[in-house]
Amino acid sequence: MKTIGHWINGKEVAGTSGRFADVFNPATGEVQARVALASKAELDMATDHAAAAQVKWGATNPQRRARVMMEFVRLLNRDMDKLAEVLSSEHGKTIPDAKGDIQRGLEVMEYCIGAPQMLKGEFTDSAGPGIDMYSMRQPLGVAAGITPFNFPAMIPMWKMGPALACGNAFILKPSERDPSVPLMLAELFQEAGLPDGVLQVINGDKESVDAILDNPVIAGIGFVGSTPIAEYIYGRGCSNGKRVQCFGGAKNHMIIMPDADLDQAADALVGAGYGAAGERCMAISVAVPVGDATADALMERLIPRIEKLKVGPYTAGTDVDYGPVVTAAAKANILRLVQSGVDAGAKLVIDGRDFSLQGYEDGFFVGPHLFDHVTPEMEIYRKEIFGPVLSMVRRATYEDALKLAMDNEYGNGTAIYTRDGDTARDFAHRINVGMIGINVPIPVPLAYHTFGGWKKSAFGDLNQHGPDAFRFYTRTKTITARWPSGIKEGASLNFRPMD
Ligand code: NAD
Repeated sequence: MKTIGHWINGKEVAGTSGRFADVFNPATGEVQARVALASKAELDMATDHAAAAQVKWGATNPQRRARVMMEFVRLLNRDMDKLAEVLSSEHGKTIPDAKGDIQRGLEVMEYCIGAPQMLKGEFTDSAGPGIDMYSMRQPLGVAAGITPFNFPAMIPMWKMGPALACGNAFILKPSERDPSVPLMLAELFQEAGLPDGVLQVINGDKESVDAILDNPVIAGIGFVGSTPIAEYIYGRGCSNGKRVQCFGGAKNHMIIMPDADLDQAADALVGAGYGAAGERCMAISVAVPVGDATADALMERLIPRIEKLKVGPYTAGTDVDYGPVVTAAAKANILRLVQSGVDAGAKLVIDGRDFSLQGYEDGFFVGPHLFDHVTPEMEIYRKEIFGPVLSMVRRATYEDALKLAMDNEYGNGTAIYTRDGDTARDFAHRINVGMIGINVPIPVPLAYHTFGGWKKSAFGDLNQHGPDAFRFYTRTKTITARWPSGIKEGASLNFRPMD
């Protein structure tokens, strides 16, 4: 069986800890490889190599670094099909969805080609008599990224692109559930001209994450994953004096106003609720129609659309709408939550519990589920299910619907469907959520804007990609300079303006 190692100093190396995790093909349920789980000693060794390589990379001029990004983008396009195939085989998502995963990472790499512009400092001529003042952005040194299973190409690229473009060395600790694509990305970076040692990929679990959190050389950490782990990493990383940004889980609400185009809203809910088997942090998991008439009319449109969904393996090509969930444990958790919804009295309008696919009986497939009459105290409302389960929570008025979304502890994404500009504007201004769609179900910002949630969906004060990424992966230094000929007076003991 294939064993997946680490990428250290420009080559794949076998793990030495003696610990491994199984990597499944979620469509068949078979173990297709095992991945090495790094020890603290392996992480520390990789970090020392990264620190040594960073010195030269950090001193390389930004346009040369940008050229590496440019070549990487070309290679990524060249290998798109191969990467998508491997991604789907470990994650389970369809090939078009896997290509979308790669594409949204690629767009951030394209944005990083503009690093020389983003890294330009500021200069004030004659800030005082004979005094000039300027600021520069310098890399942190060694930065690390810890990423989730659900976007094994996009999120590693969101982290490594800006970190490397800013002149840092970067250690990626991807999800142990789908580790192959991140290693392929490292190989492509080497082909693109990235010097060995500047990018390391360390596979592992909590042991390697804790080693990252405690390693004194690592100056910054970007995390994406579930909220409990985000909170843990933020707390421990910050108390160790690191710059940390952590993006957590979500429970995204879509409010459907009585004046909305209900066919559009139903199409949007099906795509955003069931795409990628609901394993997206921007998936819509709660539909909030305003008024019973809107709810009933929406239900009428949703049911036939959901019943038509085709669930199957990525190998079935475009005949499939979504694939299996990532592991047997994920499937068991989703089914447990569905049962809790039934037990709590929600109406299970579409029941996918008995879904089975001939020839793939051991795959981790979950049929689509639709609940009506869900209430805020139910576990299916409170917990992130991360599966193909859509809950309808009915509300009588717009204010009630808005309050529901605002009271939810998560604040990643949200959407409103309406034809009324005043309502849409009011919603966008008042809602305490980071990314908002107006008649757009999954409002993932493009690379040159920033991505991040509010409340328990994000910890730290800078977002991912866009200008914030260049701020996160650099430190600012401000210099006040005066040359000897500009010094006109003797010693002064006063703290005073320069003029
Ligand atoms: P996860 O939290 O289980 O794992 C994320 C990373 O943390 C992995 O690399 C994993 O190895 C590591 N990890 C897991 N348990 C750990 C522990 N006890 N100590 C230290 N490290 C640990 O998340 P996941 O299941 O891989 O991904 C799904 C979650 O990610 C969902 O909650 C989803 O909403 C969230 N997500 C959020 C965003 C966002 O931008 N907000 C984007 C994608 C996914």
